Amino acid sequence: MGKIQLMSEVLANKIAAGEVVEKTMNVVKELVENSIDAQSRAIKIELKDSGVKEIRVSDDGLGMDENDAMLAFSRHATSKLLDVEDLFNIESLGFRGEALPSIASVSHVVLKTSNGKIGTIVEIDGGKIDKVERGDLQKGTVITVSDLFYNTPVRLKYLRNLYIELANIVEYLDKMALSYPDIKFTLINNDKVLLETDGSGDLLKVIYQIYGAEVAKKMVEVECSNDDYAVSGYISYPEMYKSNRNAITTLVNNRVIRNNELNKMIIEAYHTYIPKDKFPIIVLNISVDPILIDINIHPTKMDIKFSKMNELKSLVEEMIQRRLQKLLLIPKASVRTASSVREVEKPLITASFKEDIAPQEISYEEVKLDLQEIREESDSYQETIEESEPRIKKMIPKGIVHMTYIIAENEDGMYIIDQHAAAERINYEKYLKAMSQDEKEVISPLIPISIDMTPNDYIIVRQHLDLLERFGIVMEEFGSNTFIVRTHPIWFREGYEKESLMKILELVATKEDFSKEKFIEKTAITLACRMSIKANDYINLDEMEYLLDTLRKCENPFTCPHGRPTIITYTKYDLEKMFKRSMD
Ligand code: ZN
Ligand code: ZN
Repeated sequence: MGKIQLMSEVLANKIAAGEVVEKTMNVVKELVENSIDAQSRAIKIELKDSGVKEIRVSDDGLGMDENDAMLAFSRHATSKLLDVEDLFNIESLGFRGEALPSIASVSHVVLKTSNGKIGTIVEIDGGKIDKVERGDLQKGTVITVSDLFYNTPVRLKYLRNLYIELANIVEYLDKMALSYPDIKFTLINNDKVLLETDGSGDLLKVIYQIYGAEVAKKMVEVECSNDDYAVSGYISYPEMYKSNRNAITTLVNNRVIRNNELNKMIIEAYHTYIPKDKFPIIVLNISVDPILIDINIHPTKMDIKFSKMNELKSLVEEMIQRRLQKLLLIPKASVRTASSVREVEKPLITASFKEDIAPQEISYEEVKLDLQEIREESDSYQETIEESEPRIKKMIPKGIVHMTYIIAENEDGMYIIDQHAAAERINYEKYLKAMSQDEKEVISPLIPISIDMTPNDYIIVRQHLDLLERFGIVMEEFGSNTFIVRTHPIWFREGYEKESLMKILELVATKEDFSKEKFIEKTAITLACRMSIKANDYINLDEMEYLLDTLRKCENPFTCPHGRPTIITYTKYDLEKMFKRSMD
């Protein structure tokens, strides 16, 4: 190869590097995927300063001979797959084939590889091969990339702070560990272990190793299929949620994918089970014939389109909802620790945000619990109850504390019920049903109700009189900015008719472009909150009993329509354990 040609190739690689390896995460991704391609069973990623100073990936895979080792850094000399269509048909992950030369062009690389017979060491500096020699090496590959972007000072600007680089790498490797439970992954940054899985092939164990014991205990296995799709994995109990959607992992044929539509639907399936803007922890693998999917690949992300998307969506949605409905969803009052930390955050992420430096080492000793114990606890939650029967047994109220929390019992244990949340759930389901019915029962108020509005709201509401009529609200214009209500639904709480109407008109006036279903939903939630007994409202024992009886017959008695819990429990066993009556 002539000098000029070589120069231009180095230049081309540098340019390509800008697109392909703009983040250290992309370098880690490329190296790890090469290791997976090489059929490795154990992959170790060691970083210095979040990988900016050094990235070393060691594997026990097939390794390379001398020829392949040198070719690996030559642009376009890839033997790898280039046909995107085949992506899901074959095992190979490193489909781009251009990343390695790009990485080498902006760093120092040392490759040590052995196919079990011959060991080869290649050193590359800024894209040019410096040295090739034989060495006595173990089978597998160790590749060390140091001083990334050293010869392109501007690139350093693109490296945001070290923490974000590292957070991206951790997130990527979490997903890989979830995709490949049978590969042992180890991630270390500046001698601190950030992820360690054991490659045992047990997905729940990987979930435990990533999210910790408390989460693993609150995961349930799911499975379903139709003619085209088979879905399996784990979903979290509603009481276990996160503030962002990072813990929703969807795989297609064991490969991490991103599909916003699918994610949205998964979140939707948890609707009213968890608070708004909170997200479940999910690992779902979708098995599908590759001809039913269309993949759009970009060096740094992968989007996927499904044909028969609606079938897939309803399959997954029904699966999640059926599972949630069957579960006994009363959160247990925490026995082990007195705190009630409901928000789960990855310890290493929060720790690092606080310190604004690299994430903390996970002390596995601290959280280490026998996986068998986790599995048992995860299973014990999965108690299912005959679907026709209410999922909570009859409870006898004993009294009330802080004018808000009803204390009740039955043979299984003791319950604490939030009176407002419970009433809100009951009314929500009642209003939802009433508004969805075709036959509207309405009454005409004896004394006409007049409602004054701001000129602005008045104009908007006037355009939607037909929508309101469909729900039994008939209004007439009466002078400027005033309506007279002729009929309204019968189910409005007595004495609160005008307030209910005003709330509904307020919703109409928000100008939000909601469908009929969404309107019903919003109205039901708003009215349920306004029309239900509040904390500090006095109710007697009979009223409590009625409330509890009605609650347990709800479709979802466990959360209010905003996703907050209505009821928590101490089981009889918990109480005995806490008072040391039962020692195990
Ligand atoms: Zn409320
Ligand atoms: Zn609520």
